[in-house]
Amino acid sequence: MKIILLYGGQSAEHDVSILSAFSVLNAVYYNYYQVQLVYITRDGQWIKGPLLKEKPESEEVLHLHWQDANDTDQVIQPCHIKEDDAIVLPILHGPNGEDGTIQGFLETIDMPYVGAGVMTSASSMDKIMTKYILHAVDIPQVPYVPVLKSQWKENPKKIFEQCEGTLLYPMFVKPANMGSSVGITKANDRKELQEALIEAYRYDSRVVIEQSIEAREIEVAILGNEDVRTTLPGEIVKEVAFYDYNSKYIDNNIKMQIPAQIPEEVQQKAREYATIAYTTLGGRGLSRCDFFLTNKNELFLNELNTMPGFTQFSMYPSLWEKTGLPYGDLIEELIQLGLNQYNQKK
Ligand code: ATP
Ligand code: MG
Ligand code: MG
Ligand code: MG
Repeated sequence: MKIILLYGGQSAEHDVSILSAFSVLNAVYYNYYQVQLVYITRDGQWIKGPLLKEKPESEEVLHLHWQDANDTDQVIQPCHIKEDDAIVLPILHGPNGEDGTIQGFLETIDMPYVGAGVMTSASSMDKIMTKYILHAVDIPQVPYVPVLKSQWKENPKKIFEQCEGTLLYPMFVKPANMGSSVGITKANDRKELQEALIEAYRYDSRVVIEQSIEAREIEVAILGNEDVRTTLPGEIVKEVAFYDYNSKYIDNNIKMQIPAQIPEEVQQKAREYATIAYTTLGGRGLSRCDFFLTNKNELFLNELNTMPGFTQFSMYPSLWEKTGLPYGDLIEELIQLGLNQYNQKK
């Protein structure tokens, strides 16, 4: 059987996707699967790479087409990835990959794929929609104010007053549809709030402003379709002010503590909230559910990532590894879940 590995992509998380894709290539069971590489350039061209029948010697294989897509005659129409006895693994993070667009395309061309469907992807990617939906099932979340670009343009003063009436400084300003902390700023006063809004609107016309809280960050890995499994939570131990893009991928100055050293009731509560959130959002395949934990042991759900960082050092696969499911087996499980989901629709 073929795994069609879609990687790269048009979002600001392009480079992260390439790191995740390389880890997948190293761990796939090549006695069962061949891997067809399909690279999506930053400007959205689809390039068919080689078909791998064994573990590649180096990550060069992924770099092949980075330089100049126009040089190659391998640029394909996206629908030409369709073939029998194959499943798509969209290792894409952020808009145009994790937000339901690719998933809708794959549904349209009737290809099985790994991970969440259209509705789940779209509503988990959009931080405003996620909050509305999880509010309906009483999952605790930090106070927030959604602000559309049009509302901000029309009356900035009103937005300042609305934020300051509901939240205290510091506040976190986030593009609604993004990941890897891209476009996120912590604002300590009105001037910084203004700058943070301008920065966030570079990425999305939908922005959410949240109450900043002093908290530990814990994450639960979720796997399954209707039958949902969760891991014990892990903790992101950070010495930095917040878990920003640099600390995630460049400085390597965070540690993961697995399992998180927290009371058992809190572990249980986090897993319970993660399961409710996943089920409510219609999760399929996988998700990583992120929480804040205050020193009073209050939990707030921050977000669900339907295609979490997937390098062999990332939290999601590490949580499963510690639970007894090694990286290669995890890929295998995800493929089976994707196929089951596809066959069930038929
Ligand atoms: P991911 O890479 O997990 O998809 P993301 O870009 O979707 O991340 P968030 O997880 O919402 O962004 O926020 C990034 C980081 O910013 C958090 O991990 C945390 O360190 C910090 N942060 C976000 N919101 C808050 C908040 N309300 N209070 C305190 N810290 C926060
Ligand atoms: Mg996220
Ligand atoms: Mg993300
Ligand atoms: Mg996060």
